Amino acid sequence: MLSKFVYKGFFLLIVLFLAICPGMAQDSLPLKKVQTYFDAARIFSNEDKIDLAIESLEKAAKVAEADNDVKSLIDSYQKIAMVYLKLDKETSALLFSDRAKALLKATEYPYGSAVDKYIEAIIAFKGGRNFQAIFMLNEARQLSNDRNFFNNILLAEGYVYLKLGKYDSASKNFNSLIINTDLYESDYLATKAYLGLAELEFENKNLEESVLNAENALKAAKENNFFKEIIEANRLLTNVYTIMGRYEMALANNKNLINIQDSIFNIAKIQTESKTAEKLQFEFMGDELKRQEQKIEELNTSKNQSDIAAILTAALLTIITLLAISLFRNNQIKLKTNDLLQTKNNELTTARDSAVSAMKAKTNFLSTVSHELRTPLYAVTGLTHLLLEENPSENQKEHLKSLKFSGDYLLNFINDILQINKIDADKLEALNIEFSLKKILHETIDSMQQSAKNNRTKLILEYDENIPSHLMSDPIKLSQILINLVGNALKFTKNGTVTVIAKLIKKVDEDVILYFEVRDTGIGISKNQQENIFDGFEQGSIEINREYGGSGLGLTIVKSLLGLFDSKIQLESELGEGSVFSFELKTKSKDSIVDDVPFEITEKEYEFKGLHILIVEDNKINQVITKKMLTKKEITSDIANHGGEAIELAKENKYDAILMDIHMPGIGGEEATIEIRKFDTITPIIALTAISLDDSLESFYAAGCDDVVTKPFKPEVFYQKIGENIFDKKEVKSPVS
Ligand code: ADP
Repeated sequence: MLSKFVYKGFFLLIVLFLAICPGMAQDSLPLKKVQTYFDAARIFSNEDKIDLAIESLEKAAKVAEADNDVKSLIDSYQKIAMVYLKLDKETSALLFSDRAKALLKATEYPYGSAVDKYIEAIIAFKGGRNFQAIFMLNEARQLSNDRNFFNNILLAEGYVYLKLGKYDSASKNFNSLIINTDLYESDYLATKAYLGLAELEFENKNLEESVLNAENALKAAKENNFFKEIIEANRLLTNVYTIMGRYEMALANNKNLINIQDSIFNIAKIQTESKTAEKLQFEFMGDELKRQEQKIEELNTSKNQSDIAAILTAALLTIITLLAISLFRNNQIKLKTNDLLQTKNNELTTARDSAVSAMKAKTNFLSTVSHELRTPLYAVTGLTHLLLEENPSENQKEHLKSLKFSGDYLLNFINDILQINKIDADKLEALNIEFSLKKILHETIDSMQQSAKNNRTKLILEYDENIPSHLMSDPIKLSQILINLVGNALKFTKNGTVTVIAKLIKKVDEDVILYFEVRDTGIGISKNQQENIFDGFEQGSIEINREYGGSGLGLTIVKSLLGLFDSKIQLESELGEGSVFSFELKTKSKDSIVDDVPFEITEKEYEFKGLHILIVEDNKINQVITKKMLTKKEITSDIANHGGEAIELAKENKYDAILMDIHMPGIGGEEATIEIRKFDTITPIIALTAISLDDSLESFYAAGCDDVVTKPFKPEVFYQKIGENIFDKKEVKSPVS
């Protein structure tokens, strides 16, 4: 029971000490605002107005913080901690004492450190660790020589000794405080010392002594309004008087006690104190929390920022490293690729060059071979023709006919190869000369009527009279196309009909679109065969080839020639039903020319007798053949071995026509023609030439040739051309001149 009094008294002592503590941090400084708050806190605390005391200390803390007065701030926190310890709120007390501790670490402040030890001592005492409390109080004493602080240590020690049963030491401490010279809390220390002694005497069963001291305490407390000490003193006296059997006194003191304790005022006061303290604590802790949160946030932000910065830096470094690596690797790959590309490029260039030279070699080879073949072939066909004319025996006639057929076949074959070769080498261009389509078609059809008759097939021309009479295009190539198509149609049609259709599709001003069709009722072409027959050397089938013969080049030539006109061949065919080959042709019409010359369909019989012609030819065999062919028609002739001689002879003599070979050593046919035309513009000059790679019909015409006959020529064509150029053109020209 006594220990309870000792305990309570000890705490009241602490509170009082703190409340009146003058704020030693400022003892040498002029009175500051903080000091005012400390003074107020002391007064409030003395009157047990704990809430107001804490409020005042809070204000002191804020001012100290604003003034950056660390020592005052430490004082404030420690005083608040003490108040909370008084309210048995140890956790809150520790919060403030820890804050003070944190500040003390960075500040040299012995008084603050001393108070810190003092607080620790009280907490230890509260926890029953009395020896530790004594040790801490001793340490506190070492750190400060402040009188008031020293007195308070004495008081605290007294209570600890009392608890430890060291009554002599406790008595020494309390007695030294009964009469003290403390500047601030002399009465309070004395009251507490009386109370301590009363308890001590009570423990030692010196009840009279105990009553005496307790009455002294009660008196001093009442005089100074030490509210809680009044309660303590009354409680103690009630107990002691009860034990002493002085019940009246005990009852009186107990009544006092009940009156005080039960007074609404008291209860409300205590509750208010507690609530206010809690509220303040809550607010403070809220503020603190906010402060901490802010700090944490700041730290976090800076941490985050530094984290982000670190992450970004790391990421950047990684990216830069990766970029550097990829750049390096790219560069290496690039170099390798470049090398590879260079090598591939070189390889491709070499391949292209060799392909081009191979192509050139091929075309040149074909050109040379076919030219070399044609000269002897010319002799074969020409001489066969002559022999047939010279009344051979029936036996010889048969052989000669076979020879002629073979010769003709070979000639056609070689001409086809040359034609394709020329197209492949891109040496062929479509001409753009004025011509009559009706005439070309009739000529073509007429020349093939004989073959049609042989097959007992009707060959019909359906010509649209709306087609303009004069067109601009390449009549030679157009007739080549038609000859090939009609030739095939006749070849594969027995006892049937072959129809050649020419129609006008559209005419807008000079632009004309024509439609051509070669339709037959022959064997037809299977769907499978249709896919390949336009490819070079492709025939419908081996059987067809065996039965009908052919080189498989005809349709290839047609396709290639149409390509020159930007046109395409179309095919519709049913096996056994017949075939329809068709194509369109874009041309231009020459509307200004009025064709008043009636078109002659029949082959003209010319009267060649008495004509005198110059043969320009370097090849001896050809000279003989050509001369013989002319002699056959009773035409006389001179021979020039080269261009120079031709010019000479043309100057000196008058010829009805000049047959000009183009390819000759020295002055060639073209050059010779140009020279002759300088002094003779009338004599017809017919170019006799093979279709060679570099020949251009246009250049022959430009040089001054009137017509071109391709070698080796069929005798009929040969005579026809001579007749046309000598007689027909004269007829046309004469009315004009
Ligand atoms: P060839 O000179 O062998 O006739 P082409 O290129 O002219 O070569 O024709 C190729 C093939 O197309 C022929 O072998 C034949 O099988 C087929 N062909 C062409 N025209 C006709 C047609 N009018 N009727 C039937 N088959 C045809």
